[in-house]
Amino acid sequence: MKTIDILIIGAGISGAVLAERYANKGKKVLILEKRNHIAGNCYDYVDENGILVSKYGAHLFHTNNEMVWKYVNRFSEWYPWEHKVIARVDEKTVPIPVNITTVNTLFDTSISTEEEMNNWLEENRIPFSNPSNGEEAVLNRVGQVLYEKMFKYYTKKQWDKYPAELNASVLERIPVRNNYDDRYFSDSYQALPKGGYTQMFEKMLSHPNITILLGTDYFDVKEQYKNFEKIFYTGPVDRFFEFKHSLSEQLEYRSINFVSETHDCEFFQENSVVNYPGMEVDFTRIVEYKHFGNQKSDKTTIVKEFTVDEGEPYYPVPNPRNQEIYAKYKEEADKLVDVHFVGRLANYKYFNMDEAFKNALDLFEMLESNNYKTAG
Ligand code: FAD
Repeated sequence: MKTIDILIIGAGISGAVLAERYANKGKKVLILEKRNHIAGNCYDYVDENGILVSKYGAHLFHTNNEMVWKYVNRFSEWYPWEHKVIARVDEKTVPIPVNITTVNTLFDTSISTEEEMNNWLEENRIPFSNPSNGEEAVLNRVGQVLYEKMFKYYTKKQWDKYPAELNASVLERIPVRNNYDDRYFSDSYQALPKGGYTQMFEKMLSHPNITILLGTDYFDVKEQYKNFEKIFYTGPVDRFFEFKHSLSEQLEYRSINFVSETHDCEFFQENSVVNYPGMEVDFTRIVEYKHFGNQKSDKTTIVKEFTVDEGEPYYPVPNPRNQEIYAKYKEEADKLVDVHFVGRLANYKYFNMDEAFKNALDLFEMLESNNYKTAG
């Protein structure tokens, strides 16, 4: 085997950025990826209906970070996509995040100005100066009636916990609009890659200094791969340490069952994403991929998302107990000078794509800047 300088575990955003950066610096990079494809959770492919679908849920790119936006534009052209989400509530259809239309539709009000919406929120909210959990955080923003209809059961379906059982931070930043803006995000850059994410990753990783071994779990082969200048690990942090701090209580993750259906019609629903915040159905949302990029096909593919306990770890569950267990792993991780824990699972923290790009780019800059010294 040719000499390798850098070992990277995982070919998602974090692994791909570091591979691309080090390869362009002249280093030989080996990526081990346990799945049979690159692109991590951003992976997409053209399905049997000729529609570009995401295997691990719709991925909408949005950022305010100029550096990240410039970086991703080096590997793909992007088309503007301002994402919108609607929800079915009490047999009505409303925009998400909550805006003037949401309140008028659900409560038969006739709010028409920002001032009236602010007044409505002020009358309904239950103030908590320092919300101690997710329920208090939502009540503090929107009050009881919206909490019941839009947040309580959706959170239960998503996390198998009611908001009161989660850190305030999980729900604290829910956007609430005092106008008619029905865009899901308000970042300056909102776009999707022409040709999809997988194509973009192929371009990032096409450097001759990069070797990728797919279908290879690092823990099955780690004895064969030693003596690297640096290792970047982007898998679950507890797996790296063989779950040693989790004897009775393991770090919790939430997973998703993606159930795909083909329908013999042009469109199944009026929008790419329809959320179901109530308990009347088990799934959290239905994604219809054909809407993204206005794709053409005689049929349509929809995917129902059921959030579950078992399966691929997607979402770390942020509550005090898990933070405590994670802190023990972090202490161990920080002792390993040449192994870097990067990304969502290695840091036990939810990152949007732009944050994952930024963290990996920042780590590279920090490690390669002239004044960085290794510990000891
Ligand atoms: P990952 O993409 O998870 O990559 C880690 C890789 O490491 C995986 O490919 C995994 O197979 C591999 N790996 C793990 N362990 C091993 C091992 N032992 N050996 C070899 N390989 C291993 N972000 C947005 O900005 N917008 C969105 O709309 C959005 N939607 C999302 C929807 C869902 C359902 C999920 C789960 C996430 C979403 N995200 C979204 C977040 C986005 O997916 C992450 O920011 C991004 O995937 C983080 O990249 P990463 O490299 O840290 O992790």
